[in-house]
Amino acid sequence: GSPTPRDVDVVVIGAGQAGLATGWALARQGFERGREFVLLDGEPAPGGAWRHRWPSLTLGTTHRVHDLPGLPFRPDSEDAPAVESVPAYFADYEHRFQLPVVRPVRVTAVRRTGQGAFTVETDRGHWTARAVVNATGTWTRPFVPRYPGQELFRGRQLHTVDYRDAEEFRDRHVVVVGGGASATQLLAEISRVTSTTWVTRRPPVWRDGPFDEDVGREVVATVEQAVREGRRPGSVVGVTGLLTSTPYVRDGLDRGVLERLPVFDRITPDGVAWDAADGEAGRTVPADVILWATGFRAAVGHLAPLRLREPGRGFRMDGTQVAGEPRVHLVGYGPSASTIGANRAGQAAARALRRELRPGTPLAR
Ligand code: FAD
Repeated sequence: GSPTPRDVDVVVIGAGQAGLATGWALARQGFERGREFVLLDGEPAPGGAWRHRWPSLTLGTTHRVHDLPGLPFRPDSEDAPAVESVPAYFADYEHRFQLPVVRPVRVTAVRRTGQGAFTVETDRGHWTARAVVNATGTWTRPFVPRYPGQELFRGRQLHTVDYRDAEEFRDRHVVVVGGGASATQLLAEISRVTSTTWVTRRPPVWRDGPFDEDVGREVVATVEQAVREGRRPGSVVGVTGLLTSTPYVRDGLDRGVLERLPVFDRITPDGVAWDAADGEAGRTVPADVILWATGFRAAVGHLAPLRLREPGRGFRMDGTQVAGEPRVHLVGYGPSASTIGANRAGQAAARALRRELRPGTPLAR
């Protein structure tokens, strides 16, 4: 395509669900595509993190991928791998709404220019913007906790992001660490071909009811409160509990593979071991594989030069904007870190930026 201007009103960083929803909403608020806003995305093709999901993850097994604004998601089949159907939908979406996505572009730092604007530094030169919407998700920042002895383990360690297929673990004992949706789903799969041990920091909280609007609102309210206070947003499962209604969870429970132990205290060359006096002291479990389903952190390292948060803390948020910084918005962060939340947040950010950058002009609906 034609080269995009390097000096724009808004740079959106990331073109997953959150970035695309924001791009759609910016266009709706009258920002001109390409000339006044661009999306810079690190991936070589559409799809955001969905390009990297493991092949057995289907829409039937996800918690539901919400439609992007303006174009319903109509996959051919619930059984198609999400790693294919979601990127195809995003590609169609970008094309249909002519979203000005530039890729692959990796943003390395965002700095203030001193004239009330921002320099967005990337591996392909820099852009200047009056405002920045960060929509970089979490997938590029997998989190693995540290345990004594970890580096001496002779087996294989991997994180959820590295998982492809249960078959590669056949006949090897797998320790799965983590209490979230990924952990339970991977356990259900892997336990069909080999033996597993599940460890979680806290006993899982099972929720029988459906994940309905009320539960959704409760989750959002809890996480919103956390980010208003500048705490790190926790995982959604930490708030909802694990849903026993999900088919893979029900299956795992029926087969008895979702019996958990507290997390071990150390890793040995051949497995894991418990020392603390919590009823497990002295227990060891030999392991060939440790699978860290231990979640993610927000991918926000490039925002560090803006000094918007205290080390080890989250961003203090006021809606989608960083408190005290009306020209930096985070979409897909905290309470909006779900496909439905990202949609709403993208639209809220675009409205706020319209008011901020063009005061006095009427807002689109
Ligand atoms: P992403 O899809 O990660 O998009 C971020 C984009 O930003 C990527 O393209 C990335 O390359 C780019 N990027 C990152 N850093 C930079 C940088 N420095 N410079 C340039 N570009 C950058 N949510 C649901 O609502 N329903 C589900 O069923 C569901 N299932 C999930 C299953 C798994 C296994 C996981 C891990 C998460 C799941 N989620 C689900 C949560 C889901 O990831 C989010 O809801 C949503 O997809 C995140 O969208 P996003 O746009 O914020 O992030």
